[in-house]
Amino acid sequence: MPRSVFHLDLDTFFVAVERLLDPALYGKPVIVSSGTARSVVSAASYEARKFGVHSAMPFAQAQRLCPQVIVCHGHFREYEKYSRAFFDILEEYSPNLQPASLDEGYLEYTGCEKLFGPPLVAATAIQARVKKELGLDVSIGISTAKVVSKIASDMAKPAGILYVRPGHEAALLAPLPIRQLFGVGPKTEPRLRALGIRSIGDLAQLPRALVGKVLGSMGYWLQDAAQGKDDSQVVRREQAKSISHEETFMLDTTDPKFLRHALHRLVCEVGYRLRKHGLKAGTACVKIRYADFSLHTKSKALNPATDMDRVLFKAGTQLLDKVLTCRVRIRLLGFAAQKLVEGKEQGMLLDVEDNKKMEHLQTAADQIRERYGYDTVRWASLLRPEVE
Ligand SMILES: [Mg+2]
Repeated sequence: MPRSVFHLDLDTFFVAVERLLDPALYGKPVIVSSGTARSVVSAASYEARKFGVHSAMPFAQAQRLCPQVIVCHGHFREYEKYSRAFFDILEEYSPNLQPASLDEGYLEYTGCEKLFGPPLVAATAIQARVKKELGLDVSIGISTAKVVSKIASDMAKPAGILYVRPGHEAALLAPLPIRQLFGVGPKTEPRLRALGIRSIGDLAQLPRALVGKVLGSMGYWLQDAAQGKDDSQVVRREQAKSISHEETFMLDTTDPKFLRHALHRLVCEVGYRLRKHGLKAGTACVKIRYADFSLHTKSKALNPATDMDRVLFKAGTQLLDKVLTCRVRIRLLGFAAQKLVEGKEQGMLLDVEDNKKMEHLQTAADQIRERYGYDTVRWASLLRPEVE
């Protein structure tokens, strides 16, 4: 019995939720963005995409390309609410469900056929339920491997289902540009291009020895993926777990440098504990308590989920900037990793080589800490004086 893995991805999720909240937005070019000068587009409707607008694009550029675009500032609580409801529906079809972000996840359907029928029947039922109960479109890719299903759901958009029959994985991937392969980032792509590799099929056919020479051991994984072979497992979500650290300052402060420095320290401790438990954070959260004891928190989805100090700190500083709304002294700062997921493969979405180097460095540091204590290793940036 071949495996049957679903990748389910809500279509233009943030925009779709905005439209449920305000139906006047239907059919119009819409983006979700904080709309400040230096912000980026978090999501774009298909109408906006026709103008060349896409997510991760600077907001100013999106406005130039499509001056009539409607800007929504985002209702993140609502997104989380819909996300939870989405995963609750999915979980009825298989206990083996791995959310990859707020609006997408993998579902191991293998072994569930007796309950819900063949994969295509179950996928059709899921799609109909998500539409009926949540008013959202979901696209679904089905294949024997996560890496293939992920691409298939993308090809199925909008509101489609693409079922890749066992044995046809490599043929589906072959004509696609190499950058569409999970794990090929902006550093790996030029190296592959230099070898004349343009498509996933080109990589699939490259001699194995050459793959190892050019890309190292990660290359083997990539080539397997290019051939549609990926036996990585769907890892169940860990509900309601989080890892956090907080610090109450000796003196209340408003000093941004001091706060940033303290945040870095907290992030590194959280990162260390994540790695120790083989977990990655799907959400980062910063909390501050002002001197008047009012509590403020801001959180942010991390896609892909991560256990890397550097990535966590970047998210943390963005959140800290957002949460600091007034010049009142701060008595406590906290950082939490939430929506924890197990497993290694999520991190590879960024860029294989860059991540690998960072991972090696972190692993080495963690090993030293394991033997000699946490404080024996520090990022150089933490050695700066604490009060400036
Ligand atoms: Mg999506």
